[in-house]
Amino acid sequence: MMRQENEEKSYSGKVKTLEILNSETAKMIFRDDITAGDGAKKDNLNGKGALNARMTEILFNLLTSSGIPTHILKKEDDITFLVRPLKIFPVEVVIRNTLAGSICRRYGIPEGEELKKPLLEIFVKDDELHDPLISESVAVSLGYIEEFELGLVKAYAHRVNKVLKHNFDKAGLILVDFKLEFGRDKNGLIWLADELSGDSMRVWDKETRQKLDKDVFRKDLGDVLEGYRTLEKRLSEIEFEPLREPLNVNIIITPKEGIPNPGGNVVKRAIENFGINTQSVRLGKFIQISFQENLESRNWKEEFHKVNNELLTNPLIEVFKIQIR
Ligand code: UDP
Repeated sequence: MMRQENEEKSYSGKVKTLEILNSETAKMIFRDDITAGDGAKKDNLNGKGALNARMTEILFNLLTSSGIPTHILKKEDDITFLVRPLKIFPVEVVIRNTLAGSICRRYGIPEGEELKKPLLEIFVKDDELHDPLISESVAVSLGYIEEFELGLVKAYAHRVNKVLKHNFDKAGLILVDFKLEFGRDKNGLIWLADELSGDSMRVWDKETRQKLDKDVFRKDLGDVLEGYRTLEKRLSEIEFEPLREPLNVNIIITPKEGIPNPGGNVVKRAIENFGINTQSVRLGKFIQISFQENLESRNWKEEFHKVNNELLTNPLIEVFKIQIR
């Protein structure tokens, strides 16, 4: 059934409301609701909306100065942001630094140990299905996100982790895990969306390992807002250090199937001199381009396809693949 236009202008989520004002602007409003277990457990805590809005403001400012393009345009009042309207990908991107939550339940392992390296997982955004884990290839094959977009989203998510983890550590906090959402605007550009607060991450005190996030509510461990206030205070007291690392784009160019590749034949003969028999060797090019810290959202796919087709690659005889790191 077609929805009425006015129905489509306001979306009420579990804890926030989104109002579409026009094609360029929407309002994201934080309410005082808190939920857990895909909405099974609920409460309303006075001041919670403003606390999470403040936390989102602090952290998104840090991310913007670290080159992450975010949907926030302006904070309007204690609980309201003006944001870019986006089509949100129906996946949640989770980064884990330390074991906790669903990964422990899934594999029957205790929480608390730091992972050998940060782990990125994606989940389907669907409460009724209890947000199932989804592999990257299934997400792409189902059309939830394009392969190129997923590459960019993953690069951004790891960048978010790097900058947050470093600054949380400075504030005496362990960033255990967190969830991000991304969306595509009407021009195809990709932006970090939603919020970042004690609702969407796990954070422990570095000394005492006390939980300062929504697990306090999920597991009835005490006053959840006290933890949120501690987080806000600790993060407001330090001087943030934005990330200055460049973002690398790799372009791999290989000769098309069936096109003669004399360079590859030379390498083939050289390898065979070592006694290794090969069926064929194809020689291509690898180009790495680094971008400085300010990565305001750009149409990476379109730009690189243009540069490749008009400058780097000869589309008649070569194919290229772009990787964002
Ligand atoms: N998370 C979230 N929204 C969700 C699911 C998870 O913000 O719908 C956050 C959660 O707060 C935690 C991280 O993502 O910081 C990882 O969550 P996990 O997969 O462990 O699931 P949970 O145990 O929270 O159900």
